[in-house]
Amino acid sequence: MSHTIVIGGGFGGIAAALRARKLGHDVTLLERNDSLGGRAQVFEDQGYRFDAGPTVITAPFLFEELFGLFGKKMSDYLTMLPLDVWYRFHFSDGRSFDYGSDMDRTLADIARFNPEDVDGYKKLLARSEAIYKVGFEQLADQPFHRVSTMLKQVPALLRLGSYRSVWGMVSHYLKDPMLRRAFSIPPLLVGGNPFRTTSIYALIPWLERKWGVHFPKGGTGALVQGLTRLMREEGIQIRTQCTVDHITCEGRRATGVRLASGETLTADRVIANADAAYLYRHMVRELPRAARFKLDHARYSMGLFVLYLGVNRTYDDVAHHTIWLGEQYRELLEDIFEHKVMKDDFSLYVHRPTATDDSFAPPGCDSFYILAPVPNLQGDIDWSERAGTLGDAIIKALSATILPDVEKHIDTRFHMTPEDFKNRYLSEHGTGFSIAPLFQQSAWFRFHNKSEVLDRLYLVGAGTHPGAGLPGVVSSAKVVERLLKEETP
Ligand SMILES: Cc1cc2nc3c(=O)[nH]c(=O)nc-3n(C[C@H](O)[C@H](O)[C@H](O)COP(=O)(O)OP(=O)(O)OC[C@H]3O[C@@H](n4cnc5c(N)ncnc54)[C@H](O)[C@@H]3O)c2cc1C
Repeated sequence: MSHTIVIGGGFGGIAAALRARKLGHDVTLLERNDSLGGRAQVFEDQGYRFDAGPTVITAPFLFEELFGLFGKKMSDYLTMLPLDVWYRFHFSDGRSFDYGSDMDRTLADIARFNPEDVDGYKKLLARSEAIYKVGFEQLADQPFHRVSTMLKQVPALLRLGSYRSVWGMVSHYLKDPMLRRAFSIPPLLVGGNPFRTTSIYALIPWLERKWGVHFPKGGTGALVQGLTRLMREEGIQIRTQCTVDHITCEGRRATGVRLASGETLTADRVIANADAAYLYRHMVRELPRAARFKLDHARYSMGLFVLYLGVNRTYDDVAHHTIWLGEQYRELLEDIFEHKVMKDDFSLYVHRPTATDDSFAPPGCDSFYILAPVPNLQGDIDWSERAGTLGDAIIKALSATILPDVEKHIDTRFHMTPEDFKNRYLSEHGTGFSIAPLFQQSAWFRFHNKSEVLDRLYLVGAGTHPGAGLPGVVSSAKVVERLLKEETP
């Protein structure tokens, strides 16, 4: 049987392993951490549980498809709970805005900010649907390693205004400055500055409206567990605590991997779910000049500071997902993405899973994770010093707004910085989302799913087409499945 090695057990690697298995391959998945999920690790402490990474599940059909490959149903492995309020935005002037599944309530909330924006939002949504139909339905699962494929799509991309930024598109339809901020946030969920991210990502509002926003009962970790069980049932070999040092090859053809332990494994092909930039920088010997140029000129997503708090009281009026915005917006994002510096201001995403699922904390308690976009390691920040003070400042700011007195109720507190992303996941420059979702780094311009460097090497995950975020990385495995079907002996 044809043997496929998958490097990395993030969602992209898991989906690719399952799709290769469905094609009849003998599949081995190698993961350097103790458990699968990649950025979707689960931390536990003193009866509190924390999903470390992704928490907003959009497009659940993409996961259902993976179970469906083997005639199984996701509902036999886990329960997806649809959320009613998707995000509560908390603005620095004290106002808040609920965005969710009930369209009438969303429109009424928009009207409180600016009645003219009700119509603007409907137009934005119609635009988002048009972009979704091309960007997601037609392009997200298509291979883009041939320049001819890209050229064919250029007219459609230009028609949709993909050269514009998400901010540019949102501002075209909405007038209220706070609503502009709220609706331009989505690129941050995939590692982009809304002022520079291609407006292809303006498809997200329609993606959410069409499929809803979900949370798996038991958290994203439960989704990882369900998929891990499926992989084991289907005979995929899983090895954890197993770091790949480099890809072995004969001439231009990948032949397997060499582990950090010194062991060599051979295979007919390798699918890498390792960070694409890290892969080419460290795991492939001898890069051709064109590939080195792409790597040297890549622009990266931001880093993340994630604070985990177990709190011995509940905050019942805090929604499951809160976007807490500081005073600055454009300036803050320019500092983080372009100048790679941190000043005093920050904006936060606050996850309160206990709003939906009380298994995340002991009775009468809340589990929180609080995420702040920060410069990646291309900036000059000493995280061993900065993490403590940033954590304190975040706790103080939340205590003064949506989590009164929280500092008096903390049972457990720990954090992750860009250094941890680098060390734990081998993420180049410690980014949260690999290379940035810019127009000049999309589709053919992104790292190709069929390696441009080695034959029989394929790429899945955030740094390759279509990009970061769970829908993106799971779709990248569909691209690789198509490529595997085209493979010549
Ligand atoms: C804090 C945070 C919150 C997020 N929130 C959301 C959200 O709510 N919704 C959403 O859709 N997306 C979200 N995202 C983005 C999303 O989580 C990621 O884009 C996605 O999970 C990345 O998946 P991936 O397949 O690229 O692999 P990763 O998750 O990066 O996994 C890659 C795996 O490969 C392993 N690996 C790397 N190198 C090697 C090697 N040499 N040998 C062996 N193993 C190796 C790593 O250890 C890792 O486990 C979030 C991301 C973060 C960090």
